Amino acid sequence: MDYDILINTSPIDKLINETKLCSPLNIERSKVFIVGVGLKLPMTEFCKTITWLYFPDPAVPFYRLSIHSRYGEVTPDNTKYWSVMCECARSIDDPITEEEIRDQAVEGLILKSIFTREQIVSIYSTTLDYGYPIPTVERDAEIARAHAILEPLDIYSRGRFGGWKYEASNQDHCFIQGKELADRLFLDIPEKLYKTGLPEHRG
Ligand SMILES: Cc1cc2nc3c(=O)[nH]c(=O)nc-3n(C[C@H](O)[C@H](O)[C@H](O)COP(=O)(O)OP(=O)(O)OC[C@H]3O[C@@H](n4cnc5c(N)ncnc54)[C@H](O)[C@@H]3O)c2cc1C
Repeated sequence: MDYDILINTSPIDKLINETKLCSPLNIERSKVFIVGVGLKLPMTEFCKTITWLYFPDPAVPFYRLSIHSRYGEVTPDNTKYWSVMCECARSIDDPITEEEIRDQAVEGLILKSIFTREQIVSIYSTTLDYGYPIPTVERDAEIARAHAILEPLDIYSRGRFGGWKYEASNQDHCFIQGKELADRLFLDIPEKLYKTGLPEHRG
């Protein structure tokens, strides 16, 4: 495929593995299991006061719970139903299955009195193979090694897994990464947020 400038926002390890432009990158990620539960009203009183909640508790498999119904009209027929979603992060080689973690999550939500078993109408789950990019000790050097080969070819990799910098890749960061890259390419304004590790970004 011909290109003038190629901006990649898919995972940089996939880009390298597909193009074989350099040897595989030594970078790490976690995976995340998402479990959503559709529920009959009434909403638990306590849940009416929050939008999300963190659980630093090994007794439950999720680290965060979001009360989806509290984010607006995201629950079909909100005169009868409400809904929650929880996120369970695991190391990439954790053998637990989506079915196992879904069951554990539902039991955990009941244990924490988020809802009762009788209220459950539907359960949804999915596995995000790319959950969180992990900032390992080797990461910066490995990513710089990739950019040193990609950028002279006018290939720019940015975004959550395109840039693999957890500390600068929330949604707001990713928008800024895109804007700053466009400003660099078309207006010659240096990028400030995303550091490639190449000479112009050192020191
Ligand atoms: C569980 C979880 C919780 C999060 N919570 C928050 C939060 O609370 N606040 C916040 O600001 N951010 C949060 N984020 C991060 C947020 O989702 C990202 O910052 C944002 O989506 C990154 O945008 P992006 O465009 O870089 O990547 P993405 O949105 O991941 O887009 C990359 C796109 O590339 C596509 N793609 C992948 N491979 C290929 C391929 N080979 N070819 C073509 N396309 C491909 C993917 O399908 C995807 O659509 C969370 C992320 C996760 C996973």
